[in-house]
Amino acid sequence: MDQYRVTSAAGFSLAQFSPGDTSAFEGSRDEAKKHLKNLRKELAELQFLLWAEDKHKLLVVLQAMDTGGKDGTIRNVFKGVNPQGVWVTNFKAPTAEELAHDYLWRVHPHAPGNGEIVVFNRSHYEDVLVVRVLDLVPSQRWGRRYDHIVDFEQRLVDEGTTIVKIYLNISKDEQAGRLQARLDDPERNWKFNAGDLDHRKLWDEYMAAYEDAIARTATATAPWYVVPANAKWHRNIVVTQILVDTLKALDMKFPEPEAGLDTIVIE
Ligand code: AMP
Ligand code: MG
Repeated sequence: MDQYRVTSAAGFSLAQFSPGDTSAFEGSRDEAKKHLKNLRKELAELQFLLWAEDKHKLLVVLQAMDTGGKDGTIRNVFKGVNPQGVWVTNFKAPTAEELAHDYLWRVHPHAPGNGEIVVFNRSHYEDVLVVRVLDLVPSQRWGRRYDHIVDFEQRLVDEGTTIVKIYLNISKDEQAGRLQARLDDPERNWKFNAGDLDHRKLWDEYMAAYEDAIARTATATAPWYVVPANAKWHRNIVVTQILVDTLKALDMKFPEPEAGLDTIVIE
């Protein structure tokens, strides 16, 4: 998964990453299905161990343009993982109370505790993405946020959190098709917001904002992954593999059992 990982601004540009790339799995569709199933099983086992060891915490930040596949990724990747121990937090447009505070105020309480996986469906990155593109606060204010975010995430890392940040990279054409599908399918009409079209008009501005956000906040301890996301089957494999690799690297162990278990007889 190294090809998708970004750990610093050096030499980074979004243009190097193709949204349509499917090179991480070269087999038939049937084989891909089987492969994803196996990866999910591995993820479930690792999550069981994470929960049992009760030592590490995993934060998964998911960002994407509208229709980028955040919901579908969560549904497909975490299928089969014990719901006890995995939380999803959605960050929508801030409430009046949230807006009355600094932008990280609503985020920190949702950070994972020991043994937990938390997925941020959107995140504090909206505060340098939509906020920047729509000019919701002056540039002097959002301009300082990249450094805050790096500090905030480093604090979580220093206190035992593992952070994985994923940008689901779809193309503008792919978004057109997905928006059209939401219009065409009555069961998906509810997902269509006319407002998404306003964001779509600002596609280039969003791409510039994503490029800066990734470049300025990618670190070795809180890396970004730019995941090709036009092909959903491939996206699911890549995201699951990233999480499996990340959890494996924690080298987790089941807690030592109490002494003398072998002599206990249950009557
Ligand atoms: P959805 O993910 O489709 O439910 O949409 C959530 C909406 O909330 C998106 O349009 C986001 O851009 C918006 N949103 C999330 N966080 C913020 C934020 N900090 N400031 C302004 N808008 C936000
Ligand atoms: Mg939406």
